[in-house]
Amino acid sequence: MTTYNFSAGPGVMPEEVITQIKQEFEKNEQTHMSIIEISHRSKQFQTIVTDAENKLRQLMHISDEYAVVFLQGGGSTQFEMIPLNFATNHHEIALLDSGNFAQKAAEAARELGNKVTTLNSTKNIHYQKLPLLPDDFDPMTYDYLHIVTNNTIEGVTSHQNNLPKTTGRLVADMSSNILAEPYNISDFDAIFAGGQKNLGPAGVTVAIIKKSWLAEQDVTGVGPMMRYQNHIDKQSMYNTSPVFAIYALNLVLDWVIQQGGVTEMYRRNLEKSKRLYAYLDQSEFYTAPVEASARSLTNIVFTTGDLEKDKVIAKQATEEGLFNLSGHRSVGGFRASLYNAQPMSAVDALIAFLQKVEQQA
Ligand SMILES: *Cc1c(COP(=O)(O)O)cnc(C)c1O
Repeated sequence: MTTYNFSAGPGVMPEEVITQIKQEFEKNEQTHMSIIEISHRSKQFQTIVTDAENKLRQLMHISDEYAVVFLQGGGSTQFEMIPLNFATNHHEIALLDSGNFAQKAAEAARELGNKVTTLNSTKNIHYQKLPLLPDDFDPMTYDYLHIVTNNTIEGVTSHQNNLPKTTGRLVADMSSNILAEPYNISDFDAIFAGGQKNLGPAGVTVAIIKKSWLAEQDVTGVGPMMRYQNHIDKQSMYNTSPVFAIYALNLVLDWVIQQGGVTEMYRRNLEKSKRLYAYLDQSEFYTAPVEASARSLTNIVFTTGDLEKDKVIAKQATEEGLFNLSGHRSVGGFRASLYNAQPMSAVDALIAFLQKVEQQA
């Protein structure tokens, strides 16, 4: 049975990368050790880190004005590192509440003693639209504006063409759509992304930080592991790095480059998501509730309108080899994650299944 994994994270990895990891895993010809046994101070690993950084710079057009670091602790640790390093002046952060992960970031920043002002929220309409930046927003009184480019649970996205326009500092949580669609790095002052959605396995987090902004910060009192500068100065080897996760990430970046880069990923992701949304929109059985202009390319959310029925259908899907189609436990319904490594055949198999269920209903 052909099977497909629609998990939102850890998500599907390119098949070619899994094969390569399998082939290379047991013993490296030169070092006589496997990748999970080598030192993070070894030459072999240093080369991997440098390669991975260079490839990410190439793929996302990241200039030398920005530092690129590989960290641990997932997106959630960034909810703390970002305010610790950047909410140092006003201790006040502006936030657009576009979903669960925006709220989580707000909670973490508040716990650290910052004021977090929600400029706009679409919670009352179940996050089916993007919260827009109010016209009278004055960035001067805030350290930065925090946004989530792709809301993994709700399936609503700030694409490059509907990013909030601010003259102030902008921080973006790109955990679930980094490398899935193009963004202009120069529009942001800091970007972070947990690895396990679209970059590789869990265990590595990427942060892209504007150096000049970081240089302005007084981080007295911030613990050494929480300071970006320490990790940047030691080229992501300040403490023991997640060697395997960075190795696998490096292979995924190779794969993305070989496939044609972010331009090609974006083309495929548009095609995949359009095909699924088109089916859902013409269906009288399923609905995709997110407003068309803000629909996610990577996390497609839909429902029959009956959450109990959705559960039964998702279970049936599992029996037919279509795994992890249930929506996040906080919202229910369905969520099909179509990350870069998800092939078009997965979308076709999903549509065929949904159609069959619809016809039997
Ligand atoms: C998954 C996710 C997170 C949390 O990541 P962890 O690695 O589990 O800490 C944060 N933000 C977004 C947008 C996510 O998709």
